[in-house]
Amino acid sequence: MTKIIESHQWFETIKHKDYLYVIRERLDEIDPRFDTTYTNLYIVLGSHSALLIDTGCGLFPLKPIINDLIDDKQLIVINTHSHFDHIGSNSEFDKVLIHKRERKLISKPRDLSFLKDSSKEVIKRYESKNYILPPVKEIQAVDDEEIIELGDLSIKIIHTPGHSPGCISLLTNKHELFTGDTAHYGAMYLTKATFPIILSSISKLLDMYKEFKDIEIYPSHEEFAVGKELLVQLSQGIQNIDNIWDTKTRDDFLGAWLLSDENFKYVIF
Ligand SMILES: [Zn+2]
Ligand SMILES: [Zn+2]
Repeated sequence: MTKIIESHQWFETIKHKDYLYVIRERLDEIDPRFDTTYTNLYIVLGSHSALLIDTGCGLFPLKPIINDLIDDKQLIVINTHSHFDHIGSNSEFDKVLIHKRERKLISKPRDLSFLKDSSKEVIKRYESKNYILPPVKEIQAVDDEEIIELGDLSIKIIHTPGHSPGCISLLTNKHELFTGDTAHYGAMYLTKATFPIILSSISKLLDMYKEFKDIEIYPSHEEFAVGKELLVQLSQGIQNIDNIWDTKTRDDFLGAWLLSDENFKYVIF
């Protein structure tokens, strides 16, 4: 018998602060081969508008969950970047913001047929959509340093390329820093050719601590509300990859090299 699950059971909603909700889904329950447990979406509630950061994997309807949290506030939706686990429910919303360098990547249907041989039963929900994620109707390209106004709260866009060309981080005026896939614990997906780019993005984020010592980090995967040490450890870890390169193993599903140190796993393309 197939167990029926619904959005409210699939997504875990955590009220982390009065104005900040974390909505988590289990990426390992979709496909354990990504070696990632959680994808984190965030809702930031301002006095007149709410910002949804990422739309998840698109297996279950997300909009009903969001509507329950934002009351009658105007909703703004942004993608930290265009990977499938961050854009899945884009088509449920009228408009999505994304960095200009990844605008085109979310304008077409996304083929998820690489997930077909996942060991997880829930993947059958994609089968009914022929493993295609439909695109959002309207896309608004954004750029570095743009500000999103939510009323009493404002959020600055910071271009942090490396993991992908249009990756963004977002800093609220209350010093929550959303880092997307630019920095998180667990399995970091990186391209060897862009190590210098990601390292300069991480130091750009570290530089912000010179101005605001109390920044808290909210990544798009795994633990959230972590400190500056995440960025310090990640920067050191990436710079050390050449020294541990001989310990790499091959992952054929991901088509990448796997390495690890005491803080991170690295999936290197
Ligand atoms: Zn990603
Ligand atoms: Zn991701």
